[in-house]
Amino acid sequence: MAQAILVRELGGPEVLKMEGVTLAAPGPGEVQIRQVAIGLNFIDVYFRTGLYKSATGLPFVPGKEGAGIVTAVGDGVSLFSVGDRVAYASADGAYASERNVDASQLVRVPDGISLETAAAMMLKGMTAQYLLNQTFKVGPETILLFHAAAGGVGLIAGQWAKALGATVIGTAGSQEKIDLALAHGYDHVINYRTDNFVTRVKELTGGRGVDVVYDSVGRDTYPASLDCLKPRGLWVSFGNSSGPVEAFNIGMLAQKGSLFATRPTLFSYVATRPALEACANSLFDVVQSNKVRININQTYLLAEAGRAHTDLETRKTSGTTLLIP
Ligand code: NDP
Repeated sequence: MAQAILVRELGGPEVLKMEGVTLAAPGPGEVQIRQVAIGLNFIDVYFRTGLYKSATGLPFVPGKEGAGIVTAVGDGVSLFSVGDRVAYASADGAYASERNVDASQLVRVPDGISLETAAAMMLKGMTAQYLLNQTFKVGPETILLFHAAAGGVGLIAGQWAKALGATVIGTAGSQEKIDLALAHGYDHVINYRTDNFVTRVKELTGGRGVDVVYDSVGRDTYPASLDCLKPRGLWVSFGNSSGPVEAFNIGMLAQKGSLFATRPTLFSYVATRPALEACANSLFDVVQSNKVRININQTYLLAEAGRAHTDLETRKTSGTTLLIP
């Protein structure tokens, strides 16, 4: 019998409870995995609270990111065999010791990358990949602002943006997190709990403003993030850690200098097999070349998923976090 966290009702971290579940043999096109590690992501919180709706309704097994060893393959699976080391970033139901996954969502983990590192980085790292290389093409001329710089996505993005040659400005909520971000690619990090980040960005850019703002904080940094942009700059709103941005007034983009806005999600950037493989390979390359280091700063037993959610939501974590079955 497999062990899994089930959400039987929406709510706080206390609704995350471990149960024994019977796992069927993998169906056609599916692969069965014994999971070595599971990645914790802020999106797991949105599904637990009901901000995002689970496609299967209640009860559901949360989580989207994990890595493990293939233990069985269903009919029609040609890409993977028993014993393969695999990982995924967008397959609902990750909070489990063993599980079935649609083979189209899996990638093989290269030798030299541990399954723990893979579980920690697939979702956050592919997010950094598309944000910096596809949503906006970051290069040596780019000056960018990345909120929550010491978070899971933030520490990967800072190193990657620096490797692309950009001037990288971040925000973080404590001195400890500022120091961490400065050690991971950021040129300047602003404490947005104590300082006005718009004023600081204007100072740091000589009044020019940045080319692009990556904002996953949402409610608390809106609309100030728009005031950090140069005319015709790009606002990338990609998360809701402090709550969603509501009632967005598109006319504001004109008033603040013909700005651009986008609200991307990873899942539309890796929706096809070629797109998923290209994005994953780009991440594997940047990690294997040591341009980006993956910091696993917190590890919890899967049974402690509730405590892990509490720590993530109360801003106690930095870098990436694993749940171990
Ligand atoms: P993080 O590790 O970045 O954790 C969230 C961080 O946000 C906190 O550590 C905290 O950093 C900051 N924060 C600011 N205000 C709040 C608040 N009110 N409550 C909680 N945290 C706050 O999480 P992830 O790396 O998992 O994800 C980062 C963000 O990116 C999330 O919003 C997530 O939803 C989004 N995301 C979006 C994707 C997409 O494709 N659209 C894909 C992946 C992630 P500090 O203490 O420094 O302020």
